[in-house]
Amino acid sequence: MGEGSMQLGEEIRADRREVSLPVAGIVLLLVLAYVLSFWLALNGSILREGVLLGALGLAGCSAALAVRRAPRSARAIWVALPVFCLLLAAGESGRLLAGHLDASTGERWLSAGALTLGAYSLLALAALRLLAGSSLIAWSLGLIDSAMVALAVSAPWYAMYISPRINDHGGSALLPQLVVPVAAAVTLVLVWLSSRAAPKAEISQFILVAAIGAGFIGAVFVSRHLLEGGSMAPVHGALLASPLLIVVAAELTGRSASVRRSSRFSFGMARMAVVFVAFAVSLTYAGLAFRRGEQLGGFVITSSVSVLLVFRLLVHSLERHHHSVRLEEALHEQEQLAVMDSLTGLYNRRFLDAELQLELDRSARSHAPVGVLLCDLDHFKQINDEHGHLVGDSVLREVARRLLNAVRNGDLVARYGGEEFVVLLPGGGKEKLREIGERCRRAFEVAPFQLPQNEEALVTISIGGACWPGDANTHTPRGLVGAADAALYRAKAAGRNRICLGDAGEGEGAGPLSMRETSSAPEQVVQSGAEPWLDLSSLRSEVPGEEIVPLVGSRDDVVPMERWAALVARELGLDEAAQRRCSLAARYHDVGKSTLPKEILSKDGPLSILEWELVKEHPEMGATLVELAPELAGIARIIREHHERYDGRGYPRGKKNEEISTEARIVACCDAWEAMRSERAYAAARTASEARAELLAGRGTQFDPEVVRAFLMFDEGDFEGATKALDDLSARAGIRLPKEY
Ligand code: GH3
Ligand code: MG
Ligand code: MG
Repeated sequence: MGEGSMQLGEEIRADRREVSLPVAGIVLLLVLAYVLSFWLALNGSILREGVLLGALGLAGCSAALAVRRAPRSARAIWVALPVFCLLLAAGESGRLLAGHLDASTGERWLSAGALTLGAYSLLALAALRLLAGSSLIAWSLGLIDSAMVALAVSAPWYAMYISPRINDHGGSALLPQLVVPVAAAVTLVLVWLSSRAAPKAEISQFILVAAIGAGFIGAVFVSRHLLEGGSMAPVHGALLASPLLIVVAAELTGRSASVRRSSRFSFGMARMAVVFVAFAVSLTYAGLAFRRGEQLGGFVITSSVSVLLVFRLLVHSLERHHHSVRLEEALHEQEQLAVMDSLTGLYNRRFLDAELQLELDRSARSHAPVGVLLCDLDHFKQINDEHGHLVGDSVLREVARRLLNAVRNGDLVARYGGEEFVVLLPGGGKEKLREIGERCRRAFEVAPFQLPQNEEALVTISIGGACWPGDANTHTPRGLVGAADAALYRAKAAGRNRICLGDAGEGEGAGPLSMRETSSAPEQVVQSGAEPWLDLSSLRSEVPGEEIVPLVGSRDDVVPMERWAALVARELGLDEAAQRRCSLAARYHDVGKSTLPKEILSKDGPLSILEWELVKEHPEMGATLVELAPELAGIARIIREHHERYDGRGYPRGKKNEEISTEARIVACCDAWEAMRSERAYAAARTASEARAELLAGRGTQFDPEVVRAFLMFDEGDFEGATKALDDLSARAGIRLPKEY
């Protein structure tokens, strides 16, 4: 009961934080007081300033409360906003107080201007932080662009407005106050850019931009008042609008709908547009200055623009260089990965097939024999069953180590499949096969494997050997490994932990091999009840060198996501080639992430906007990478589209519905499932029911409804749990979802 009431208390407290009614009331009162102050015409200035201070206080509090709800991509700004309001309020009240104490006009405006300048600079820095993250290069680019904007605003501002009047008023103490509009303009651009760059932008972010816009207008009015005199009423009007808009933005943060933006006008283009406009404005004013005969002014502007442009080019090319170095590293890593097995560090089957072909070609010329040993662990399933897959994996690593120690220099050891290894012996005839095979077998017998918690296990290995010429009926890698496979079959049948060598003539006519060679449909092999290790040939591709992707159900060590993708494709009636593509794409869908800096991949906290921009490039990078491998080029489009959403709000291109390939829609659904079901740095794993409910709730928005239907057909069938979780979810969100399940 105690826990229940505590929870209730939490909820009430949370509700209180969410309540916006009092805030709306206070806003209304402030506006009424302000209107009243005009109407009564009673010492308006003091009352108006009082109202302005109240509004700033309210805006600061609302912004502080909004930090929790703000999207990660805008949080830095919401953290800075309360301090921003505080500085503005301090400037305003300082000015009032100084007036009361009869401080000189100059001093009053100097302190108020300095504080306001600090407030805008702080907000601009927060926006820059979002844009640049922790990258020094991105910071430099941001600062150069800010300087470009500042120059574009200050040149005409100074030339048209300040320069003709400043001498009349003389006070350099006014300067900070006169620079505030420039700082406000830079802040406006940076905050707008950061809202453009965020993965999702809310209406509230645009209201915030409007609030800074109101501040900018207020600052312009203040300058005019200082230089020309006149009423402070429009100043207060514009300045009041700023905190009130901040309050509205804060209230809407985390609650307002996201704005769909055209994918054609990306963040990069927006930024370039800003730089271009700043550049054009500065040059126009430089031209005007020259025409008016103000050589010095024109010269200052043109040389500043040139210096900034040169710096921008330098930093930009540095950034490009960094990117290309990273891409090169990633490509190198990918090349390695393409031939290595990631678990054991041995060569993989793709590499073995290519090497074996080379050796066979060489032997055709030199007539030197080529031998292969196909090694399969005995009863390995038991180790997995008794100690778990992680221990099984460490045993596989130790197997690789022992095999490498047992073979000669120049022999090649590759992982052929789950717990099957191949040793390629160039120049290896029957005698060599027997000798090395026996050495490998004994390498296991000599000492048991060390398992965690001081346990031990005796792991033995069965080996089938075959050599060319002699054993294989065809002069191909497939023929030779097939002959070794037949010999392995006999070694298993004869009691395991032994080596059998192939006999001439066995390849063509003998039972096991020809049976396996002809069973081209993988599913048939499984359905016939053959032992799993008999599936070897079924995993072999018809196209030489093609990456092998087993079809559904042909092996039990296939990564689930690949299995799901192929299953869903089959359920949706896609042909066999498409099923295979789905499975392959499921395996490689995130290959583009390898081009991301390690700091991003391992980052615990929220990503900066630029980091997020990089992450959004991973489907495109992945597609580019797989296009490098001819046999994977067919899945490039799927990888490119696997983060698109059914409603068009995904990335990189914002495609929707049928514009996205069916395979990509399938992979997106499987990927989401995998992400929800596993423990991530930023979220705990969901239960199967919760994940199902999320998939159902995302039908028609994030996911293709047909794909979700097909996907859920293949789960554990816990639809009751899913329905309940879905009900809870919809009750919390206050929506009614169609109940088809
Ligand atoms: P046999 O003596 O007949 O070969 O018995 P076995 O248990 O070794 O045969 P089977 O081929 O049925 O089992 C192979 C097992 O290897 C099944 C699969 O779970 C496991 N396996 C395959 N790849 C991996 C892997 O990468 N890691 C782990 N831990 N296990 C794997
Ligand atoms: Mg085995
Ligand atoms: Mg096996």
